[in-house]
Amino acid sequence: MTVAVVLFTSDLRLHDHPPLRAALSSADEVVPLFVRDPAVRAAGFDAPNRRAFLADCLTDLDEGLRGRGGRLVVRSGPVAREVGALVTECGAHEVHMSAGVTRYAHRREERLREELTVRGVQLHVHDAVVTAVAPGSVLPAGSDHFAVFTPYFRRWSQERLRDPLPAPPAVRVPAGVRSEPLPSRSSVADVSPGVPAGGETAARRRLLSWTRKSLAAYEDRHDDLAGDATSRLSPYLHFGALSAAEVVLRARGHAGPGAEAFVRQLCWRDFHHQVMAARPESSVRDYRSRHDSWRSEEEAAEEITAWREGRTGYPVVDAAMRQLRHEGWMHNRARLLTASFLTKTLYVDWRIGARHFLDLLVDGDVVNNQLNWQWVAGTGTDTRPHRVLNPVIQGKRFDPQGAYVRRWVPELRDVPDRFVHEPWRLPSDDLADLDYPEPLIGLPEGLARFKHARGRD
Ligand code: FAD
Repeated sequence: MTVAVVLFTSDLRLHDHPPLRAALSSADEVVPLFVRDPAVRAAGFDAPNRRAFLADCLTDLDEGLRGRGGRLVVRSGPVAREVGALVTECGAHEVHMSAGVTRYAHRREERLREELTVRGVQLHVHDAVVTAVAPGSVLPAGSDHFAVFTPYFRRWSQERLRDPLPAPPAVRVPAGVRSEPLPSRSSVADVSPGVPAGGETAARRRLLSWTRKSLAAYEDRHDDLAGDATSRLSPYLHFGALSAAEVVLRARGHAGPGAEAFVRQLCWRDFHHQVMAARPESSVRDYRSRHDSWRSEEEAAEEITAWREGRTGYPVVDAAMRQLRHEGWMHNRARLLTASFLTKTLYVDWRIGARHFLDLLVDGDVVNNQLNWQWVAGTGTDTRPHRVLNPVIQGKRFDPQGAYVRRWVPELRDVPDRFVHEPWRLPSDDLADLDYPEPLIGLPEGLARFKHARGRD
């Protein structure tokens, strides 16, 4: 009887799972394993919103496996040590897992390889499981990654994706393999009330209903803050409850500008992965330094707190920051303008904002979060690194009636449309009655500080 272990990481699904498929075809029995690594908690990445969503994903994965005669095995401890112990316990001859691109993923793979080599067990690391196209598989001449999105998108679009693999009909797990109890969502404290249900079942349901109802209008509506018309698939993609390749192929199956725009957006995810694969240090360091001397937590303590709490006096910024706290999610346009406000108007270090997002986002992801923050801060891959998003103009453009602002900032519920993004312009009697902060900083002042810091006055 041959045994293989499948180490699940950011790929918590049964459909289109190449490591699981490979293990099932090479061994008689398979141990589907998830390891709760204390290093993730020690690094502060084990935020409650993601822990709750992860618990759902693991429960759903276990149920899916049980429906096929198997089950999920959960262990806690350093990954290499736990996998090493398990392969010895069950006499496994190989381990399958998906490739990752972060520094953590590289270290994990390195340690695992050492541990398994000593035991004479083979490690198979599968590409293009977390992303649609494997990082590094399309390259520009003379470089190890694409630094500009559009040429990457062109090449990425020509890549052939595998036909999505069906979920396996049966999974046989060796008898007697010990598992810890699965973590449960209800045991996680401090979860934002609006965090959705995790897991592959919920993910596939959402993918189906959203593509049917909203994909066609995506191009026209994706920036409509109040319309909330984007897919909200990001947490499912982050945990791998959905295969990125399958989502791309499904979208391509619907012709039209909505599907094209959506696929382009999915490509951003792969783009950032191939940047991070080539430059793993850009999770903490400027990808391209502009020699900024950002204001630190100490220097800008009050402004940073007001930003985090949604009390900047700029309605669309405050609405977005409150949505983040309530739902553990924020609209992409809102992420762009809140990040721009922190870095370019308050001139605060992008890492401070990125950390706050990671503390709350249910899709919070070192690759997409850090590289998007760098894009906005002008230290990343944006080809116009000095652009500044003005929150009043952005609010008027993407929330013209102020419905998004009113949803999250009830203090402004009765303010007429024409003042909803600039409540300080209200007639003085109305202003006196308003229980809403004055703007934290004047926009010309913020912009002048940024221009001066970048040497562009
Ligand atoms: P849709 O508009 O429906 O897009 C479909 C999918 O495409 C998304 O689910 C996502 O996987 C991908 N995608 C879309 N835009 C981007 C993008 N700019 N970069 C990478 N992938 C993208 N996304 C994360 O998944 N995790 C993060 O931690 C994260 N942090 C961000 C921080 C900042 C400052 C900014 C500006 C963006 C960040 N994004 C992050 C990207 C983007 O905002 C979210 O992926 C998107 O808002 C999720 O909503 P959706 O699923 O409805 O997206």
